[in-house]
Amino acid sequence: MINFSGVVIGINELDEKGRFLKILTEKRGVLEIFSRGAKKPTSKNNPSTELFAYAEFCVNDQSGRLYLDSSKPLHIFEYLRTDLKALSLAVYCAEILLFCSETHCDDKCSSNPEILHLMLRTLHYIDSGKRSLPLCKSVFELRLCSLIGFMPALIGCRECLKYDGDNNEMYFLAKSGILMCEQCFDENFTETDTDFILSPALLHTIRHICLSDNEKYFAFKISEKIQNELSLISETYLFLHMNLYKNFKPLLYYNSL
Ligand SMILES: [Zn+2]
Repeated sequence: MINFSGVVIGINELDEKGRFLKILTEKRGVLEIFSRGAKKPTSKNNPSTELFAYAEFCVNDQSGRLYLDSSKPLHIFEYLRTDLKALSLAVYCAEILLFCSETHCDDKCSSNPEILHLMLRTLHYIDSGKRSLPLCKSVFELRLCSLIGFMPALIGCRECLKYDGDNNEMYFLAKSGILMCEQCFDENFTETDTDFILSPALLHTIRHICLSDNEKYFAFKISEKIQNELSLISETYLFLHMNLYKNFKPLLYYNSL
């Protein structure tokens, strides 16, 4: 028997009675588990095997395949089930994690318990409505990049090490993940569509998301204008570094609502 806690981030319905679950765990990355009979309303495993259920699972390993034996729900995100836009954002985050686990990021995802904590915090803020959906999306995108090895270099200008551009704007080069003050940028580069100009407030926000302690990275509020700029940067940064394209279906669906 193997015991662990995790959140269900993917479900394939196999037949009338069975489910194939993808569960994001703390130390084992994403595990694939077959659950017999979980769809029956009377099944004791039913509540823990719904999408985005956070639960304790006990599984059997039979020749390398994992079968669910028992489970106990730890938290069910109720509101997600009633709001399509909120649900579609949760699905987007889950699909990013599944993509991550199926590609080169897998080792870093498996060994870092903070990935599960990030997903749980993101679900909590989506579900509770305590943060706007665009803010939840941006924090998830930037923080995930930081956790899987794509932390941008945010300390200061890469050339002259200036911390904040003397309260002027700084350039953020999303492709290389570096900052440049205006002067160094003008001397070295021509602007492309993956370079962004950051106001001091926007730079402060990005630093907060990427560099704060685990308890704090959702603890801020920003204006709608800054949020709009942040949304573009966080999405561009994630997609560039994970080699995703803008036709990623969960993103298209979220944006269509
Ligand atoms: Zn500089």
